[in-house]
Amino acid sequence: MINNMEMKTKIREKFKTLFGGEGEVFASAGRINLIGEHTDYNGGYVFPGAIDCGIMAEVKVNGTQKVRAFSLDYDEYVEFGLNEEDKPQQQWACYIFGVCRETTKRGGKVEGFDCVFAGDVPLGAGLSSSAALESTFAFAINYLFGNKIDKFDLAKIGQSTEHNYCGVKCGIMDQFASIFGKKGNLIRLNCKTLEYKYFPFDPKGYKLVLVDSCVKHELASSAYNKRRESCENAAKAISKNHPDVEFLSDAKRVWLDEVRDQIPEEDFLRAEYVIGEVQRVLDVCDALERGDYETVGEMMYQTHFGMSKLYEVSCEELDFLNKLARKCDVTGSRVMGGGFGGCTINLVKEELYDGFIAAVKELFPAKFGHDPKFYDVVISDGARKVE
Ligand code: ADP
Ligand code: MG
Repeated sequence: MINNMEMKTKIREKFKTLFGGEGEVFASAGRINLIGEHTDYNGGYVFPGAIDCGIMAEVKVNGTQKVRAFSLDYDEYVEFGLNEEDKPQQQWACYIFGVCRETTKRGGKVEGFDCVFAGDVPLGAGLSSSAALESTFAFAINYLFGNKIDKFDLAKIGQSTEHNYCGVKCGIMDQFASIFGKKGNLIRLNCKTLEYKYFPFDPKGYKLVLVDSCVKHELASSAYNKRRESCENAAKAISKNHPDVEFLSDAKRVWLDEVRDQIPEEDFLRAEYVIGEVQRVLDVCDALERGDYETVGEMMYQTHFGMSKLYEVSCEELDFLNKLARKCDVTGSRVMGGGFGGCTINLVKEELYDGFIAAVKELFPAKFGHDPKFYDVVISDGARKVE
């Protein structure tokens, strides 16, 4: 989607009208996470990849100390300065402002520039449109001002922007995937050591489709804190026997069994899910190296089961979508993201795709009274200069 000339042409036209001349064009991507959910704060693995929808921006240094920005999707123009007190009112502009500030804080040079941008990541659907936006500008600014900030720090600029200018205390995964994303590859990131490795993901004969339940149940943040507490509690109990265990991801399954009667049953179940999930990421990576997408899919179902029955962060709508996927012989399906709503991610054979979509379109609204949404995604490049 992002490569389409149409978006670039629209951006170029607007840029010319507003500012005259031509800038350089940059883009970055939204992301999916194939497997590895609620593992990040347990020091485990996540396994994201950049997707073929994102943000594209034309940017040109303007020789002043002001940023002049136009959002095509909001049809809105904003100007702001580069000092801490210059934070703009518009939320979308805060992402750009934050990236400028965080670059400056890291010793990078940032001066005024003109920009026009647009995107095609659905907002708030769990595909991280905000990371796509941050990464595009982090990359562009780094390039245009010759800053030579390394890629990991570009991801951290995006993350700190969310923390310090947008009020979202997120982890590093979204920005990491958006910056490091590579066509046909997923990236296994160790959230404890920040080591990462690319794995081929090129499922010929399959499609990757997200089904958006379009629900977001409250509870999410209080439940999230409770899950974290359970995990910390279980890790602490295990560390009494195995002092090297700092996070649950360090623990073997049998070590959890040793402390079963020392912790609440609920904490045991939460930990059982996490330890299993860390292992599943490794199993999926092995399977991908063999090109074994059926095993990948089976692991996705196991994750869903764990998130629903052990970690208890699913909901009726997501469980329904998961069951329906199984019924339609979808290869793999699971809730993606923190839970309590949002999307399922589905790996489905091309010949079964139409039947699956038709079944969801018919049965989901019949039960829940509203339509779901569908997003086909292909694993694609992350932050880059568009030639
Ligand atoms: P997501 O889960 O998609 O990241 P967020 O709420 O974190 O959802 O980020 C969405 C916000 O990012 C939007 O409200 C907007 O401020 C900004 N944003 C994302 N895409 C665009 C776009 N194409 N144009 C302008 N702003 C965008
Ligand atoms: Mg976001």
